[in-house]
Amino acid sequence: METTTLPLIESDFYFINAQLSDEERNQFEMVRHFMETEVEPIITDYWKKDEFPKQLIPKMAELKIAGLSYSGYNCPGKSVLLDGLLAAEMARIDPSVATFMGVHGGLAMGSIYLCGSEAQKEKWLVPMSKMELIGAFALTEPLSGSDTARGLQTTCKRIGNGWVLNGEKKWIGNAGFADVVIVWARDVDDQKVKGFLVEKGTAGFTTTKIENKIALRCVENAHIVLEEVYVSEENRLQNALSFKNTAEVLRMTRAGVAWLAVGCAQGAYEKTVQYVHQRTQFGKNIGSFQLVQERLARMLGNVTAAQCMTSQLTYMQGLGFMGDHHASLAKMQTTLMLRETVALGRETLGGNGILLDYHVARFFCDAEAIYSYEGTKDMNSLIVGRGITGMNAFV
Ligand code: FAD
Repeated sequence: METTTLPLIESDFYFINAQLSDEERNQFEMVRHFMETEVEPIITDYWKKDEFPKQLIPKMAELKIAGLSYSGYNCPGKSVLLDGLLAAEMARIDPSVATFMGVHGGLAMGSIYLCGSEAQKEKWLVPMSKMELIGAFALTEPLSGSDTARGLQTTCKRIGNGWVLNGEKKWIGNAGFADVVIVWARDVDDQKVKGFLVEKGTAGFTTTKIENKIALRCVENAHIVLEEVYVSEENRLQNALSFKNTAEVLRMTRAGVAWLAVGCAQGAYEKTVQYVHQRTQFGKNIGSFQLVQERLARMLGNVTAAQCMTSQLTYMQGLGFMGDHHASLAKMQTTLMLRETVALGRETLGGNGILLDYHVARFFCDAEAIYSYEGTKDMNSLIVGRGITGMNAFV
């Protein structure tokens, strides 16, 4: 293989994409084209407006990437590596759009794929794979975020042939416009956590958009109130028997978030390199300054280390031996490196680093949400720590 000629902008320095087959590479190129031509030109306006560009959903459906790695039920059954690389590729242009897909295809479809009965998978995954129906995933609550395993307060109670749900959920991406929301609730009788498919328009189910976010502003997050919401037994996820099943979904999607962190860092790095090439100070291109080059090298080092880590995680996932501690280590480490990377990029742009016009500021802000959702750094480090020591440090 020939060595790359400089100046280098492409952020796949160690050719991780070379692992893709020709067919996978075609799909990758389609997603790249969509993100660069349809998303990038409009995304800053939507970020400012605090709104998801919903008109893109039919075009995203044409990419056939929802539930990419699941088999059957009209899902593409592609490799987890392609799934991860596409999450990164989307985040490389916009982490909000990547998060929207992560919630729909990962959390919502993944809950049904892992915890649904055959009939439920057939009924929901087919239209969700075509993005005719959009999903959301409601686990977090106003008073219970990191400790949902123990602290979940939303309740469900069996009444006749159905269930009645009461409680509140916070931060739920896509929920304001989703056709179906996976709601996790504790059974008042056996105290086990169960999952429910709550359909749009169900009586007693209301959503309010969360305003004033400084990160992932194109993701529409909602506060949900459930008041005596009736859900039929048919809409209870038949194989979600306890929080262990919820955790299985999270383990899978945490690997996806690690890829998303990789993509956000790639985007910040590439936009920073572009900027460096066009900015002159003291009569010289700023790229000729040693301190600027050192920052670019650290950014690329972080991106490349994170790509290698997630690529190996995905290899383990494909073989079926990725544990919670493996996924958590990648989520923790890639988001730590992401935070440093976007800060180095922002710094390299000087004052322009805080303007949305140059994109790096958007990556800088979005990184903060990626760092905190799907388990904070603290939570993921405790999961890893439990794996290392065998001792549980959760209080
Ligand atoms: P808290 O749990 O209140 O934590 C506050 C601080 O205390 C953190 O620093 C935390 O690390 C620390 N802490 C807590 N417990 C411990 C401990 N035992 N030891 C040490 N430190 C501790 N949730 C969903 O269900 N669905 C979604 O679609 C969704 N989307 C989201 C999108 C965005 C943009 C954001 C910001 C969040 C989203 N979330 C979603 C929720 C997200 O997963 C939670 O915000 C996250 O798990 C942290 O919970 P919390 O915000 O309640 O923080």
